Amino acid sequence: LLSARGLHKSFGDNHVLRGVDLDIAPGTVHALIGPSGSGKTTVLRSLNGLETPDAGTLRIGDLSLDFDRAIGRRERAALHRASAMVFQQHQLFPHLTVLGNATIGPIRVQGRSRDEATEAALALLDRVGLREKADAYPSSLSGGQQQRVGIVRALALQPSMLLFDEPTSSLDPELVGEVLAVMSELASEGWTMAVVTHELGFAHEVADRVSFFDGGVVVEQGSPEQVFEAPQHERTQRFLQRMR
Ligand code: ATP
Repeated sequence: LLSARGLHKSFGDNHVLRGVDLDIAPGTVHALIGPSGSGKTTVLRSLNGLETPDAGTLRIGDLSLDFDRAIGRRERAALHRASAMVFQQHQLFPHLTVLGNATIGPIRVQGRSRDEATEAALALLDRVGLREKADAYPSSLSGGQQQRVGIVRALALQPSMLLFDEPTSSLDPELVGEVLAVMSELASEGWTMAVVTHELGFAHEVADRVSFFDGGVVVEQGSPEQVFEAPQHERTQRFLQRMR
């Protein structure tokens, strides 16, 4: 489904991505792990068109982008449509209800009818156990509930792929489980997912592939068993030791 080659990105003098290669097969969960500042979030944002790499190529489905030349508005928009992002801070609109948050994208951006978008959003809210909160405002929900609405909002866009940027790192520990449970369920339903996470237990259990990032490159990539139980690279070994 997705194939990135040689992604480079600098912010000023800070050369953040230094040649990232990443492949994500349809229906698989790919965990991006590694120390803070290693470039995981920047890669994820690049997959969604929120950052534009300075060099490299990216294929998602039928879409093929070459960052060595200028990327047009239309290409960026197509990239943005191909995947949907769940952010670290859910970034819900505070002045809209839960239902409003889940339908604004489909209605405003995708031009779907209000009835259709509402029906689809209610079904999704039902799936994450929040249908009775449809008319509530985000501020009245717990952090875990807000993040589940964030997931519904992403699903409502009917993307071919879901991108999660540390979706549990801003939650109180007791709320982490309910969000990871929804993500596990989506994984078992066959969603293609890329997940930046510090939850190594979750990555071990749920991911099909794991990429370990350090210094703006993928240092090591493999099955969770390979990466967590028999890491080949010294930098991976040191990172895992520190995280234990
Ligand atoms: P973390 O686990 O802390 O989120 P990360 O591996 O996801 O780290 P990134 O968020 O991709 O790392 O950041 C990599 C580097 O890029 C950091 O040094 C960060 O300060 C820098 N950076 C990221 N986004 C921007 C931006 N918009 N402008 C300037 N610098 C940025």
